[in-house]
Amino acid sequence: MTEETIFSKIIRKEIPADIVYEDGLVTAFRDINPQAPTHILIIPNKLIPTVNDVKPEDELVLGRLFVVAAKIAVEEGIAESGYRLIINCNKDGGQEVFHLHMHILGGRKLGPMLSS
Ligand code: AMP
Repeated sequence: MTEETIFSKIIRKEIPADIVYEDGLVTAFRDINPQAPTHILIIPNKLIPTVNDVKPEDELVLGRLFVVAAKIAVEEGIAESGYRLIINCNKDGGQEVFHLHMHILGGRKLGPMLSS
């Protein structure tokens, strides 16, 4: 069974979040525990728990994640300096919230891709 997370409440504006972008397919908001000067999460409005649950019909919304990431990077002033996009999946991937999300991290030189 697919259970809603706190991210569904953010999409519906039932709990506060610093939303930087929203449209009919995706919502982007600042991470509550930022790991870099820019740390924004971009999520499908539709609940897809993990990458394992992605279906062919999700291609449009998943493509939108990248389009919005590129737009946010420009707006945040990190497009040229660079940034990292991360999507964690399940336990070994470090996923904590089971509503698929893309992290956009930048604004400083990031460390090695994997710390351990
Ligand atoms: P992950 O480990 O990939 O599942 O990442 C989950 C992210 O969601 C973490 O970076 C959290 O800091 C972030 N997060 C959890 N709750 C909230 C919230 N209410 N508003 C913004 N970010 C959140």
